[in-house]
Amino acid sequence: MAKPWLGEEEAAAARRAILSGWVTQGPEVAAFEREFAAFVGAPYACAVSNGTSALQLALLAAGAAPGGEVVTVSHSFIATANAIRACGSTPVFVDIQPGTYNIDPERVEAAVGPKTRAILCVHQLGMPCDLKTLAGLARRLGVFLIEDAACAVGSEVEIEGDWKRIGAPHGDAACFSFHPRKLLTTGDGGMITTRRAEWDAKFRLQRHHGMAVSDTVRHSSRMVVEESYPEPGFNFRLTDIQAATGRVQLGRLPAMLDRRRTLASRYRELLADIPGLLMPEEPSWARSNWQSFCVRLASGARQAGVMQALLDDGISTRRGVMCAHREAAYPPEAWRAAGGLENSEEAQDSGLILPLFHQMTDADQDRVAIALRRACV
Ligand SMILES: *Cc1c(COP(=O)(O)O)cnc(C)c1O
Repeated sequence: MAKPWLGEEEAAAARRAILSGWVTQGPEVAAFEREFAAFVGAPYACAVSNGTSALQLALLAAGAAPGGEVVTVSHSFIATANAIRACGSTPVFVDIQPGTYNIDPERVEAAVGPKTRAILCVHQLGMPCDLKTLAGLARRLGVFLIEDAACAVGSEVEIEGDWKRIGAPHGDAACFSFHPRKLLTTGDGGMITTRRAEWDAKFRLQRHHGMAVSDTVRHSSRMVVEESYPEPGFNFRLTDIQAATGRVQLGRLPAMLDRRRTLASRYRELLADIPGLLMPEEPSWARSNWQSFCVRLASGARQAGVMQALLDDGISTRRGVMCAHREAAYPPEAWRAAGGLENSEEAQDSGLILPLFHQMTDADQDRVAIALRRACV
C-alpha cells in the first residue's frame, strides 16, 4: 500500500543529532523550519509533534473554543474532526465533490453561521482544494481559513497564473503531518505554516508549555534567564532527532513527487479501459502530490469483494477515506451537518485506494492493474 522512503542518509542524520548532545527541539528543529518554510514559500513555519497537534494549535489561534463551530468535512481521517473537538468546538460537516474528494465550496456558505470561527478545508489524499474560492469566501464571511494539508506536502495550486505550493499558506495557516503514511516522514511530526507573525509566536509559546523563553535562547545566554508562563500550553515539541531526519527527507521530496506523478499517470493509462472504473479528478489549477490514488468502483461493484480478490493476489488496498460522522466517537450531539453527506458516504463505500509508493516499480504497478481488471470484470 505505502512505504516510507528512508535510507542511510536519514540514519546518519539521526545519529548526528543523537551524538550532538541536543536531542529535542533545538538547532535541528530551527533549521528544519527554515528549510521547510523556504520549500513551501511560507514566511513562518513552526514544527510540532504531529499533524493533529498542528491542527489543534491553528484552530485555537483562529478562536476555536467551547460554543464555537468549525466548518469542515466528515470525509477525512478522523484527526480532522477530533482536532476541532479537542478545542471544545463543534464540527459542522459539509459534503464533498465526488471527483476530487474535497470540500464542495458551493455548500460552505450555508454552513457558516454566527458561531463559526473557521473553515477547516482538507487537501484530501494530497489533492488541493479550491483554495481561490474558499479564501474569497472566508474573507467575505469574516472567518479564518485553516488548511489541513496533512497529506499535501509538495502539492501545488495555480493562482493568478503562478503555480504555488500548498503551505504558502493560501489561508491563514496550513498544517502538515510527517506520519509515515504521508510523503515526507519523521516517524511522527508536524508543521504549521502561516503568514501571521502573531500566530507563529503563539504556536511557539503553546507547543512548549506556554513558556516565554526557548531552550536555545536560555542555553546561549550569558546572563541568567528567568522563564515565565504567560498562558497555558502543551508539550507539542518535535525532537531534534526527528528534525534531522526531516531535513534529509525534504531533500528527497522533489524525486518523490516526480516518481509519484509518473505512477499516477501510468495508473490512468493502465486502468483506462476497466468498465465503470472512475479515476480521481485533478482540476486544471491543481497538481496533486499523489499521496494516495483513489479510484471509484463501478456502481454495484462489491468493494469488499474486490479488495479480497486483490488481497488473494497479494495486493493490499484500502477502502475510500472514512467518514467521521459514521463512527461511534461521533454521536449526533457531537456534530452538525449542513446539508446531506451523500457524496461523502458514497466515496467511502465505493472508493478504492491503490498501492502507490516511491519504490514501486513499473512491474509492480502492472501487477496491480492486471489484478484489478480481473477483480472488476
Ligand atoms: C494524517 C492526517 C492527519 C493527522 O496527522 P498525524 O500526524 O497522524 O496526527 C490529519 N488530517 C489528515 C487529512 C490526515 O491524513
